[in-house]
Amino acid sequence: MKKSNVGTYLAKRGISRRSFLKYSSAMASLLALPSTAVAGFTNQFLKAKRPSVIWLSFQECTGCTESLTRSHAPTIEDLIFDIISLDYHHTLQAASGEAAESARQQAMEDAFGDYYLIVDGAVPAGETAVCSTISGRSNLDLLQETIQGAKAVIAIGSCAAFGGLPAADPNPTGAAGVSELMERGEIEQKPLINLPGCPPLPVAISSVLAHLVVFEGFPALDDLNRPLSIYAKTVHDRCSRYHFYENEQFAERFDDEGARQGWCLYKLGCKGPTTHNACAVVKWNQGTSFPIDSRIQEGAQLYEENCVYCHSFDPTDFKTAPDKIADLLRSGDIRSHSRLQFSEDQLTILEKYLEESQ
Ligand code: SF4
Ligand code: SF4
Repeated sequence: MKKSNVGTYLAKRGISRRSFLKYSSAMASLLALPSTAVAGFTNQFLKAKRPSVIWLSFQECTGCTESLTRSHAPTIEDLIFDIISLDYHHTLQAASGEAAESARQQAMEDAFGDYYLIVDGAVPAGETAVCSTISGRSNLDLLQETIQGAKAVIAIGSCAAFGGLPAADPNPTGAAGVSELMERGEIEQKPLINLPGCPPLPVAISSVLAHLVVFEGFPALDDLNRPLSIYAKTVHDRCSRYHFYENEQFAERFDDEGARQGWCLYKLGCKGPTTHNACAVVKWNQGTSFPIDSRIQEGAQLYEENCVYCHSFDPTDFKTAPDKIADLLRSGDIRSHSRLQFSEDQLTILEKYLEESQ
């Protein structure tokens, strides 16, 4: 089946080059391309063929698909209908049962040897392969068949990449990730990209798809097949609590003074130092926050609920140093602020938020 290019599709959908430029610039930046390369990247993008994609979901919780639908630039509709040709998706498609099975067969036939196969969820293998079946066929069986015509595989989420939660000890279903199945020779070897995370960042998925569309090849990968643009550094490297780590200021309990001050969570089991991901930079919910950042988020909320009525929406516009602001509020010397009743804990959080915002 002949696929149109991205530019033709965008034109048909009435999406202007200007608004697409915004999206392609965001993707170029996520792929760590230099700003001088954005115009060329956009032109290539518009000329590129929309690749056929088959998406299989196995032993999973739908979180990975949810993550993609939270991809704010572009929207899920754009991603599916404009950038790629999502010809089969277990969860998002309307068809079910035999109709879904024949849709998969048709998608494979139409683009045999030329489609990308996306997998989310772990795959029960061996004697326990029957633990998860679709249309009466085991996940392993479906994967073995579908991988034959794939030109590359993208394992989305920690479950598909490395087995994730389903493979946790004692692993009653014999679950394994795609790379392990390839290593064991249970599925065909194909070029593989792993996008771990539970779920992975939406931008990890969309930027990798953008790279595949434009360059028809993989981005630079590390030794675990993860794109360097997203996974080269750890969460710890760019954590907002890193200065507390350096100063050896650690929370020892979730309700102690250190936790209230937003100190480092290392002694509470934080895995940031060994977790390679870009959450601390890209963040979640359209760049709002990420779990370790939650205290800072509380500070933003305090600022928005109390300060923006008289001051700027942008806390960096404050000319007074953050610690002076908190001290002024503590002193009660500003009469116009007497209506504000901050607890000492809230003042500390606000002060920290203002410091982090500078
Ligand atoms: Fe769900 Fe996490 Fe597995 Fe994705 S990686 S399927 S979000 S458990
Ligand atoms: Fe590192 Fe975790 Fe401490 Fe952040 S909270 S600095 S990721 S150990």
